[in-house]
Amino acid sequence: MPDKYAVIGNPVAHSKSPLIHAEFARQTGEDVKYVAMLATHSDFEAAVERFRSEGGRGMNVTLPFKHRAHALAQKRSRRAEQALAVNTLAFESGAIHGDNTDGVGLVRDLTVNLGRVLRGQRTLLMGAGGASYGVCGPLLDEHPAELVVANRTKSKALALCEHFRSLHPAARGVSGCSYEELAGRRFDLVINATSASLGGEMPELPPAVFAPGALAYDMLYSRSTPFLEFARAQGVQAADGLGMLVEQAAESFRIWRGVGPDTAPVIAMLRL
Ligand code: NDP
Repeated sequence: MPDKYAVIGNPVAHSKSPLIHAEFARQTGEDVKYVAMLATHSDFEAAVERFRSEGGRGMNVTLPFKHRAHALAQKRSRRAEQALAVNTLAFESGAIHGDNTDGVGLVRDLTVNLGRVLRGQRTLLMGAGGASYGVCGPLLDEHPAELVVANRTKSKALALCEHFRSLHPAARGVSGCSYEELAGRRFDLVINATSASLGGEMPELPPAVFAPGALAYDMLYSRSTPFLEFARAQGVQAADGLGMLVEQAAESFRIWRGVGPDTAPVIAMLRL
């Protein structure tokens, strides 16, 4: 009998995770069955408990339940504590372990797949929602020269910075601001962690925000977004979040199975 895993969310039918984990299992020879599971607002915790009591070994948690998964976990990794959200549950020795693999997924995509060195880079993170909380700690672990968090609602950017200053030893150089306050500033790495692209919009960035040789990264996995087009129009290298999606899944797989899959062919397959 294969070991059972699932991704739980609402909606969840669009999720690429079952396909990604099926590829990881095929590649590594791990005997794993991974399915998508729809939960309603009222039955998330009960659905997790049911899956666990029926022998499930672990779950990925997607929107809108990452905060509730954080609350549900009995043991949490440092990454989950920093993110205030959990996207990976592991059911081990009678306990529910919670982790967050989004940030390490982003960092691996940037450093391994895109070949960027993050240390010493002037980094701009746009957005102060769940995705930004998830990636901020792992970005700080790489020791950027500075990490500026810009958000439409400035108070949320300031709150995020305050949260990380209280938790992360490298967070002294983190600052929050509005988009207008970016005028005249240049960054080597600009990450769009807003949901603006979903509505065909982009944050109101000053045009000269990219330093020479900069990378523009949109966490949404769509080759073309208004932000990526804005960057390309200025001759800036632009990348979407598909690699991050696969890398965060690979980290979950590693947590559950103790083996690291080869992500490159899976990213290539999803690009077809
Ligand atoms: P949240 O709803 O928690 O946060 C949304 C953020 O976007 C807020 O900061 C909000 O600003 C900002 N925003 C929304 N619309 C606009 C706009 N028109 N202009 C400027 N800012 C805007 O979303 P999440 O943080 O959970 O997700 C953000 C994105 O990250 C999504 O697109 C998601 O798909 C992607 N993501 C990708 C992953 C991957 O593996 N590739 C993993 C996780 C997330 P305000 O506070 O002012 O409302």
